[in-house]
Amino acid sequence: MPPIYMDSHATTPVDPRVLEAMLPFFTEHFGNASSRNHPFGWKAGKAVETAREQIAPLIGARFRDVVFTSGATESNNLAIKGAAARAPEGRRHVVTLATEHRSVLDPCRSLEQGGFRVTYLGVRPDGLVDLGELEAAVTDGTLLVSVMAANNEIGVLQPLKEIGRIAKSRGALFHCDAAQAAGTVPIDARALELDLVSLSAHKIYGPKGVGVLYVAKNVHLEPLVDGGGHERGFRSGTLDVPGIVGFGAAAEICRHTSAEETRRLRALRDRLWNGLRSDRVHANGSMEHRLPQNLNVRVDGAHGDELLKSLASEVAISSGAACATTSAEPSHVLKALGLSDAQARASLRFGLGRHNTEAEVDRVIELVRCRVGS
Ligand SMILES: *Cc1c(COP(=O)(O)O)cnc(C)c1O
Repeated sequence: MPPIYMDSHATTPVDPRVLEAMLPFFTEHFGNASSRNHPFGWKAGKAVETAREQIAPLIGARFRDVVFTSGATESNNLAIKGAAARAPEGRRHVVTLATEHRSVLDPCRSLEQGGFRVTYLGVRPDGLVDLGELEAAVTDGTLLVSVMAANNEIGVLQPLKEIGRIAKSRGALFHCDAAQAAGTVPIDARALELDLVSLSAHKIYGPKGVGVLYVAKNVHLEPLVDGGGHERGFRSGTLDVPGIVGFGAAAEICRHTSAEETRRLRALRDRLWNGLRSDRVHANGSMEHRLPQNLNVRVDGAHGDELLKSLASEVAISSGAACATTSAEPSHVLKALGLSDAQARASLRFGLGRHNTEAEVDRVIELVRCRVGS
C-alpha cells in the first residue's frame, strides 16, 4: 500500500477529469496555438482562450489579463524582476515578508544585487504581517509590495485588503503569490486592487509546469523571455496547450466545488488537530486566519527528521517546503515566527486534499500519536 498522501502544499495529483480534458491535446489536437492559418492552430488557440476564461474567475480577473507561464516560480520572477526593470526613477524599493516562498525571496535578493533596496518584514508570532510595520515600511519610493495570500508551510492568510490599501496609498504596485490560496480561498484581484497575482496549476489538481501571472491593465513589466511576443509580449514561447487546457479544467472544477470542499477540508483538518493536540503538540501559526486544508504542528522534544523518517512508509507529510527539505536548514517560515532551530525541525506540515478521507485522518492521528508517544 502506498502511504497516505497529506502533502498537498507540495503538489496535488492531477484530477482524472483534468487528465481527460488534456489528453486529446497531446495527439489529435496537437496544433500550435499561434498557428493562424489552419484549423489545427485554431483549435489549439481556442482551447487556450477557453482556459483563460476558466482561470480568470478564480481570482476575479478579466480573462485578457491572464498570462500563461511555466508555474508560480516563473510568475513570481516575472512579477518582481519584470516590474523592477521598468521601475520609474525614484522607486527602487521593494517590501516583502520574511515568510514568503523562495521564488519571491530569491528574486528580491537578486534585485538587491542590482541596487534595489528590499525590506523583508518580520511577522507576528501568529504569522500575520503587522500592518503598522507595513505602513511604516512602504513609502513614496516603494515600487512594489509583494505579500502572499496563503503561506505554503503554515497556511496563514494575510490581510490582503489592508495590505493593498497601504500599497495603493503610496502608489506602489501590489503583487500577491496566490499559489496556495487559489481554489480554496476566494480572491478578487480587482476588488483588492491587485496588480500582479501568481498561480500554479499543480496546487489545484492540474498538471505541473503551468502557471499564470495576472497582470492588471496598465502595469508595465519587462519580459524575462523574449521571442515571438506570445502572451501580449510578457512571455514568449510556444504555449503548453495540453497543460493550459488542464489548468483550465482544474480551475473550472474548483469553481464548482470549492465552497463545499472547503467545509469538508476544514472539518477534516479540525479533526486532525483535535486528534493530535496535547501538552506536547502545539500549532504553528494562527488557527483562525488559515487555509482550511493546512495544519502545522511542533512536537516538544521530538527529532523532526527521525519522526518523519519513521512515518514515511505510512504517511507522506513534510517538515516544511518541498524545496527546503533537502537542505539541512530549518524552515525560514517557522524561524520567522520565533521558533528555535530545534522547534522548527520538530515541526510537521499536513496538507489535506480532495482525495483524503476521514478514515485516513484517523489513521494518521493514530500513527503520529504512537510515534510521538502522546
Ligand atoms: C508551489 C508554490 C510556488 C511554486 O510554484 P511552481 O508552479 O511549483 O513553480 C510558489 N509559491 C507558493 C506559495 C507555492 O506554494
